[in-house]
Amino acid sequence: MQSKNKNRFNLSIMITDKFASSLVQQVLAWIQSSSHIVILTHMSPDGDAMGSSLGLCHWLRLCDKQVSVVVPNTFPDFLSWLPSASEDLIYETDSEAADRLLAQADLIICTDFNEPKRIGSLGDRLMEQHAAGKRVIVIDHHLMVEEKTVPPTDNVLKLIYPDSPSASELVYRLLLQMRVLQPNLPALNLDAATCIYTGMMTDTGNFSFNSNYPEMYEIVGDLVRLGVNKDAVYNSVFNSYKTDRMRLMGYCLYQKMRIYPEHHTALIYLSRKELYRFNFQSGDAEGIVNLPLQIKDIYYSCFMREDKVNPTEVNLANGSKIKVKISMRSQGDRPVNTMCHEVYNGGGHKNASGGEYYGPLPEAVERFLNNYQHYFKKD
Ligand code: 5GP
Ligand code: MN
Repeated sequence: MQSKNKNRFNLSIMITDKFASSLVQQVLAWIQSSSHIVILTHMSPDGDAMGSSLGLCHWLRLCDKQVSVVVPNTFPDFLSWLPSASEDLIYETDSEAADRLLAQADLIICTDFNEPKRIGSLGDRLMEQHAAGKRVIVIDHHLMVEEKTVPPTDNVLKLIYPDSPSASELVYRLLLQMRVLQPNLPALNLDAATCIYTGMMTDTGNFSFNSNYPEMYEIVGDLVRLGVNKDAVYNSVFNSYKTDRMRLMGYCLYQKMRIYPEHHTALIYLSRKELYRFNFQSGDAEGIVNLPLQIKDIYYSCFMREDKVNPTEVNLANGSKIKVKISMRSQGDRPVNTMCHEVYNGGGHKNASGGEYYGPLPEAVERFLNNYQHYFKKD
């Protein structure tokens, strides 16, 4: 019978190296010379943000590091079952404790974002630590915009690969490459594997987009071999709606969806009053933007919801108390990130991006209506 180590070694041969070995070596050296590590991930954490940060956290704890995960604001209920999610420190409600941890840390690791703005005022704390010379590692799969990202100083290592479907997959690949370099490092445990699997699953819509290459399934195979119950993860994430959330989706489709057939576009927007009617909670809007893409010949979808400006982002709001969160999705070679970037100061991936508008909902809608024909193709 093959030993477990042999299996691991064989697996590493099937997976192409993502990172230059010198970079992995440096990451490993920074980790090994640190005892206190803080992991940060983006505002309104999604499955990949939670999965990449917690997956890495579990593994670093196996390496006997003191590790904390800090999120800017609360995560949705459908991710609260993730191993150790309840230990995440929420900056919005516990900023003093988080500031202390950041000050004590020898190393800060950012996952699933590379722009300090994506973590609100926690980004200012990150930049203070960075300016003071603290080591920062960024593991992300979003496009990097030079003037918005963490500056490329000697105390920063960037593992930013926009071609990767998820940050969680990058974490898996990094851990694998580190273990190939140093075979005595711990293997992933089930908690780490479950978190990483969850991030890979959610950022690919349960492997329905950005998911058409074999290595992804080598990784999934390995995670299942480690004990991940992928069917249970699917149920916990996707079959766990509250009744109100399901009804909100029905309301959006029946009463709120506008279709602009010439440009293959759908738009849904919700005011705070409407959200209130459905007892809206963080995460309830997740997935609504994808629904119109199920319509034949609809290739672009935009979803907007009104929100209040939260305390960690007042510096961005120019005095407005209201903001509108914008999400866009598309299919095929039809980018939505350009419009998000240029019209809503946001960004993201070609087929999934977002942004924010600090002002009333009708203004954000008007901007959309004035611009979509320019950005969205007719054919
Ligand atoms: P969602 O629509 O799920 O909030 O976000 C979709 C994608 O766009 C995610 O990859 C997310 O990181 C990115 N995104 C969402 N909002 C913003 C934003 O305000 N700025 C940038 N740069 N990216 C965003
Ligand atoms: Mn992601």
